[in-house]
Amino acid sequence: MAYHYDDQNIFAKILRGEIPNDTVLETEHSLAFRDIQPQAPVHVLVIPKGPYVCYDHFAQAASDAEIADFTRTIGAVCESEGLQENGYRIISNAGEAGVQEVPHLHIHVLGGRGLGRMLEPAR
Ligand code: AMP
Repeated sequence: MAYHYDDQNIFAKILRGEIPNDTVLETEHSLAFRDIQPQAPVHVLVIPKGPYVCYDHFAQAASDAEIADFTRTIGAVCESEGLQENGYRIISNAGEAGVQEVPHLHIHVLGGRGLGRMLEPAR
């Protein structure tokens, strides 16, 4: 599959410093920041700094160093946000069926309350 990365997406603008963000953690290859419309008391987005559209693109094209950094950053957010004891959920929406709004890979890290079951029944 050929992936097209649109560098005008809002997270690309955040990475270029063109719009502000509420940073939680920054590493060599990843950035974690608070979601602007939180769905839970803790709602952090973790993104790679590289131009990847979605998770399968990243898994295919990113370097081992980027993948390790991204994975560890997600874990570090769980720790720094105090989510380990009561649990959390990580989600990555992709494409139309996943209702992905921003076409730059992001992992939602959600917690701080009971999150219910994983999916609503199909409508
Ligand atoms: P998704 O549907 O998985 O693509 O989710 C995109 C997420 O990005 C939503 O939860 C939005 O609230 C969030 N979002 C959009 N713009 C910003 C922004 N400027 N800063 C932080 N979060 C944002």
